Amino acid sequence: MLNNISFYNFMHRQILVLIALFASTATSYIFFGIIYSSYVIEPLWYLFVLALSYWGYRLYKEYSETILTIQEKEVWLNKLRYFIFFYFSSWTIMFVVYVMRDNIELHYLAIFTQLGVAVVATTILVSEKKLAIFILASSMLPITIYLLLIGKFYSYIIAILTIVLAWVLLYGSRNTYGYLQRNQFQAYHDYLTKLGNRRYFVELLEDGIKKQKSDNKFMFLLLIDLDHFKTINDTLGHDIGDKLLSEVAQRMSNLSKVNKGTASRLGGDEFCILSSTYEDKQKCLESAQEFAQELLDIIKQTYIIDEHNLYISASIGVSIIDNPKVTANTLIKEADIAMYEAKSKGRDGVILFNSELSVRVERKLEVERLLRFAIKKGEITLNYQPQVNRDGEIIGCEVLVRWHNEQLGNVGPDEFIPISEQTGFIIELGYYILEESFKTLSEWDKKGIYLNQFSINISMRQMFSKTFIEDSIALCVKYLNPTLSAKLIFEMTETSAAEDVQKLIEIMNKAKLCGIRFSMDDFGTGYSSLSYLRQIPIDELKIDKSFISELDNPKKDANMVTTILNIAKNLGLSVVAEGVETQEQKEFLVKEKCDILQGYNFSKPLSKDKFEEFYLKDKISSL
Ligand code: C2E
Ligand code: MG
Ligand code: MG
Repeated sequence: MLNNISFYNFMHRQILVLIALFASTATSYIFFGIIYSSYVIEPLWYLFVLALSYWGYRLYKEYSETILTIQEKEVWLNKLRYFIFFYFSSWTIMFVVYVMRDNIELHYLAIFTQLGVAVVATTILVSEKKLAIFILASSMLPITIYLLLIGKFYSYIIAILTIVLAWVLLYGSRNTYGYLQRNQFQAYHDYLTKLGNRRYFVELLEDGIKKQKSDNKFMFLLLIDLDHFKTINDTLGHDIGDKLLSEVAQRMSNLSKVNKGTASRLGGDEFCILSSTYEDKQKCLESAQEFAQELLDIIKQTYIIDEHNLYISASIGVSIIDNPKVTANTLIKEADIAMYEAKSKGRDGVILFNSELSVRVERKLEVERLLRFAIKKGEITLNYQPQVNRDGEIIGCEVLVRWHNEQLGNVGPDEFIPISEQTGFIIELGYYILEESFKTLSEWDKKGIYLNQFSINISMRQMFSKTFIEDSIALCVKYLNPTLSAKLIFEMTETSAAEDVQKLIEIMNKAKLCGIRFSMDDFGTGYSSLSYLRQIPIDELKIDKSFISELDNPKKDANMVTTILNIAKNLGLSVVAEGVETQEQKEFLVKEKCDILQGYNFSKPLSKDKFEEFYLKDKISSL
């Protein structure tokens, strides 16, 4: 059966069509009664039809005015089937009455109307196969019996023809039914997993929201996204990927059925499950957590597909239908936000949507949107933070990017750099930073501001971009001479460093041909191991400021800093301590022979002009 919401809506509309058709054509029997002087049976029968029409109208109203759950709709549909059966059968009464009369004209009328009923039944009830067959049989059979009872050669032939006609009608209706069913299935289901698709799910959800409104019941929605599914597709091929998806869908669907929920596939490796209803919100929340956890466990069990043992986990976002004003799409979006949070928390987990999450996502989207125009609008500037040697002389600087937007105010790089890395905007931004920094370095050289080193932060994503080396070399050639190029230090953070070490080494070696050196930023907070440090051709370590800030607390991290300094010494690397804020920190680092110091104790990051002033003042005071 075409079992979905639009089917109920379709059947619902059919009621009015039937009532209009039957109540109007039935009046013709009143006229026949008048013409053939029969004044009792016809009006009585007509009243009977009107009574049935009223029953149908009540069913119509019941569907339009109350919000029914899927189960209630099933009950309603059964009542509707009875109504339709009686409604159609009512015509057989008049058929029997008329063929019993002597007037042959009335026989013709009766046969014609009965044929009409059969045709109407098979066309209007296309989607209700069994009912259509039943009504077709009950309307055609009386004609066949009537013809057989005549007992003449010609009537036997016509009786056979009525059976042929019934078969043709049935055949036509079944063809249309099959076509309708396929169409309907395709429109509402996913071809691969046979689960409902996004359209199906949205309708189901809308139904759930209506239920919340009418009965104040609660439901939960799970949005499930498989972790790293793309890797399976890319490495083992789409065939295996498809089989895995079907298997995951099957497990999801089985578990949902046990819990009276419905699973659908929204697309790709994204699935949604809508729960049954709960009286109590707390219970709904608890069940959502339990169900999601159970689902995670089931998804993680090994899959054997074409002799491959596969393993996959999922990230799940949960939202609760607790508010009738919400729309289906908003609910999906909320679950989506929660699901992304689960991904960013390391995947293989469940996160429940909350409003704080939504504020964060809105902000991120706003930053993402406005960032795209930031360079063109001249909102991006560079700051330079001095680096000093153990004697306090300025020997270098670190370039730090700044963004001021009129709507958002100052946005820190800790916020917008990760976003631009995710969106890919970092390539454009990184290029802009390189070019502006190189211009400054060249300009300062002409102004007599001599630095030993000039550090620029480079994101891994930028470094791995196709044109990074080409662009860097071209910019070096355009703005710098070899002596100035040799002052450049590219700072990279270790957070994502482990991805493709060989490629990284290749890129670094190419840059080194132009004299560019490399520094490991925020050392101690990321993933780098000692062997990794040995492999990659770096020149400098920057001890993360979190270690420095702990120095003068309970001397907790002093050992750590000393150890890092020793490692650096053994590996022949120079060391920068960043985030030096106090005199004690400075003294400790000087005592421990840290090469370079950077932090608020010497200067905050400065604009270009301010840096020039700061530098000149420092030079004058050291004369
Ligand atoms: P980072 O490279 O480790 O930069 C050092 C950060 O510490 C800077 O924050 C700097 O202002 C801050 N800092 C310096 N001295 C002190 C101090 O004494 N105390 C404290 N509490 N903080 C200090 P900022 O400018 O907000 O930059 C944050 C991060 O953003 C940077 O960390 C870097 O990872 C990234 N970033 C900044 N500019 C760029 C850039 O041009 N390109 C890329 N890719 N990333 C950048
Ligand atoms: Mg840095
Ligand atoms: Mg740092």
